[in-house]
Amino acid sequence: MASRCSFCTKPEDQVETLVAGAGVFICNECVELSALVIAEKKTRGPAPRVPFWDQMEDQAILDHLPRVEAVRDQVDDDLRAWVAEARRRGLSWDRVGGALGMKRQSAWERFSWTAGGLPGFLRIAGTGAARIRESRAPMGETRLVA
Ligand SMILES: [Zn+2]
Repeated sequence: MASRCSFCTKPEDQVETLVAGAGVFICNECVELSALVIAEKKTRGPAPRVPFWDQMEDQAILDHLPRVEAVRDQVDDDLRAWVAEARRRGLSWDRVGGALGMKRQSAWERFSWTAGGLPGFLRIAGTGAARIRESRAPMGETRLVA
C-alpha cells in the first residue's frame, strides 16, 4: 500500500512532497492550504462554529467513509512497522506492550504476526514510508525517538 496524505488521501506519487508524522502523512498541497486557513483566521478572526456534519448531504457522508478507513489502515500499517522495528532491535514484548499501555501478552497477540514481515509491512518499510522518513530527517520536521 502506497503512503498517502492523511488529509486529502492523494497517494505519494501524485504529490510533490509527503511529510510523515506518527502514522499519518500530509502533502505539500495540504500544508499550503492549512497555511492559508491559518493566515486568513489571523486577519478575519475565528469563523463562527457551525456543526460540520449538518451541512453535508448523505452521499457526502458515505463518500467520506472509505477515505477515513484508508487513513486508519495506513496508521495501522505504520504502527505494525514500528513494532516490527522495535522487535528487530531486540526490544522485548514487555517493553513494546508497556510503551503502548498494554500487557506483554496483549502486545504479542496483536503484533507477533507482523514481526516476521508480512508483505504489507515489507512494502511499507522497504519503499515509500522508509524513503519519506529518510527525506524528512534532515529537515527536522519530526523528531523520532527510538
Ligand atoms: Zn494532502
